[in-house]
Amino acid sequence: MKTQIGIAGAGFAGAVIARELAETNRYEIHVYDERDHIAGNCHTTRDDDTGIMVHHYGPHIFNTSRQDVWEYVQRWSQFMPFTNRVKAVTAAGVFSLPVNLLTINQFFQKKLTPLEAESFIKELADNKIQEPQTFEEQALKFLGSALYKNFFYGYTKKQWGVEPTELPASILKRLPVRFNYDDNYYNQKYQGIPVEGYTKIVERILDHPNINVKLKSRLNPDDKKNFSHIFWSGPMDGYFQYKLGRLRYRTLKFERFVQDGDFQGNPVINYCEEHVPYTRITEHKHFAPWETHEKTVCFKEYSALCEEKDTPYYPLRLKNDLELLKQYVELAQSENNTTFIGRLGTYRYLDMHVVIGESLDLVRNYLGKENSQWPR
Ligand code: UDP
Repeated sequence: MKTQIGIAGAGFAGAVIARELAETNRYEIHVYDERDHIAGNCHTTRDDDTGIMVHHYGPHIFNTSRQDVWEYVQRWSQFMPFTNRVKAVTAAGVFSLPVNLLTINQFFQKKLTPLEAESFIKELADNKIQEPQTFEEQALKFLGSALYKNFFYGYTKKQWGVEPTELPASILKRLPVRFNYDDNYYNQKYQGIPVEGYTKIVERILDHPNINVKLKSRLNPDDKKNFSHIFWSGPMDGYFQYKLGRLRYRTLKFERFVQDGDFQGNPVINYCEEHVPYTRITEHKHFAPWETHEKTVCFKEYSALCEEKDTPYYPLRLKNDLELLKQYVELAQSENNTTFIGRLGTYRYLDMHVVIGESLDLVRNYLGKENSQWPR
């Protein structure tokens, strides 16, 4: 009789753990997901009208510096080399993002060299700020007020629904600032797009005789007695029936449209002005420049506070949420035989590669401990 394991959520977190356990041949793993598809918010399918691979929950570009994570994902799919180059529409025109030498030179109408640009931005920056605590302080210290107002203030207010003075500096630290012409959105060593989409990868990870997947069904924490361990990638507060209140998230709504040809000439364009109601437009066919499509399908992206009926995307993590999180973490730590994993399970703003890396580390650690107790 194999050891029974329950996993809530068939996204990357749950799938990676399920597979590693399954391969030992000592476990039978039951993966539950409330939705009618696997892969969580990384879900991709080919669009019915155009045949283009669409990222249903917003743009996902795989990037990592961890070689083991890069090798892991390639075990399941071919990845095509891809560099994310985002453009930003601002009140002053269209520019390249992240802020780089082209952005600086075009925005300020200059011809600065890297060293000149660095000292120019330093002069604009607010040097009174020592250790930036908030998003706004981080922006003012490293970019100065003109770039902050044009590129970050409006977008961030729309994206998070609060003033950037209420947000942590860590959100802005996700984006590099460069004094050269490198316009790659990410700083990571490896970057690519899976040729058959992310859902295919998760499908292959879960395709193992020791793994059962049940869609449109929920793993109830009360059924814990049926399993020797649960890995929970659903919302952490949901596990405890929200008994202390709800951790807040931002959700996204997408307005899909199809037209002929090329709508915007780039996969992602951000709209940084506060009065434009959406944050960005994704034109999915540009994620696969190796494919040819006559038509194009785009998603206009709107951010909103996540209500109970909505899909949670970004953990809001404001002061109240972090206080509530602390209490839930205490409950979680005293819960035997349950491990909380992934973006929702740990209430953190995590990218795919981080989730995969953490899940690999966690399950190997778990197996190591189990092995040491395993009868020889
Ligand atoms: N951001 C911004 N303007 C932009 C792009 C990003 O103000 O044009 C801010 C915004 O607050 C966003 C954060 O930087 O939430 C991180 O951006 P990233 O592109 O990493 O967000 P994601 O793609 O994960 O939504």
